[in-house]
Amino acid sequence: KGILYVVATPIGNLSDITLRALSILSGVEVIAAEHVQTAHKLLSRHGITTRVIPVHQHNENSAVGKIISFLNNNQSVALITDAGTPAISDPGAKLVRGVREQGFNVVPIPGANAAISALSASGLLAPHFFFYGFLPVKSAERQRRLAALKSLYACILVFYEAPHRILETVADMARTFGTERDVTFARELTKVFETIHTCALGDAITWLQADANRLRGEFVLLLAAIEPPLQTEFLNPQAEQILAILQKDLS
Ligand code: SAM
Repeated sequence: KGILYVVATPIGNLSDITLRALSILSGVEVIAAEHVQTAHKLLSRHGITTRVIPVHQHNENSAVGKIISFLNNNQSVALITDAGTPAISDPGAKLVRGVREQGFNVVPIPGANAAISALSASGLLAPHFFFYGFLPVKSAERQRRLAALKSLYACILVFYEAPHRILETVADMARTFGTERDVTFARELTKVFETIHTCALGDAITWLQADANRLRGEFVLLLAAIEPPLQTEFLNPQAEQILAILQKDLS
C-alpha cells in the first residue's frame, strides 16, 4: 500500500529542507501541494520533477478520495504546503485524518516551522509555550480570545499574524495583557530582512512605526511568560509584612 508523507518545506530560505524530505519528494509518485506554482519553485530549485496536484483548504475534503485512490494503487503521496509544516496553521489535518481512517500509513518528515524557529532564537525563558496561531480578524473577537489566555502563567504565547493587522493586534494585546509584558517580533525568518526584536508591549507600536519596513513581511509574535500572582490572602499579617519588605527589596 502507498504511504502519505507529510513533508515540511522551507519558511523562506529554499535551502532549509532536509535530505530526507528531498529524497521523499523525488521518490513519491505524486506531490499534493497547497499551490502548484509555489511547489514548482521549490522543486525546480532542487531538480525534482515529480507530478504535482493541488490540495488546499477549498478542495481538501474532495481530495481525500483522490489521494486514497493513489495509495490504493500502491502509489505514495507527499503532502506539502506553501511554507513550513503542513497542518500547522495550514491545510493538511483533514486529509491526514481521512487517510488514517482508511488504514493507510501517514509518515511525518519534520523540518521548518515558523513558531519553533521564532522560539528558538527569541531568548525568552519559560518552561512552557502555548501555540495559538492566527487570532480572529475582528478586534472584539480577538480581544475575547486574548482575554481567555490571561491565566496561562509560565507560558510563552505564540501567535501568527498578517502584516496589515500587526498594529491592531499589538494594541489589543497591550489592552488585554498590560503595557509591561514583553513581546518578541520574529519577522521574515530565514529571509534577507530577518528581524528579531523584543520590547515591552507599551513600546511596540512606536518600534513598529519607526521604520515602514518593520510593518512588512511575515510575523511570529511571542508574548513573554508571566508568573502567577502571589496568593496573599492565605498569609498571616506578620508574613504579609515580611513579604512586603522582600518585594520592596527586589523591585
Ligand atoms: N505551516 C507554517 C509553519 O509551519 O510555520 C505556517 C503557515 S501560516 C499559513 C503562515 C504564517 O506563518 C505567516 O502569516 C506568519 O505568521 C508565519 N510565518 C511563516 N513563515 C514565516 C517567516 N519566514 N517568518 C516569520 N513568520 C513566518
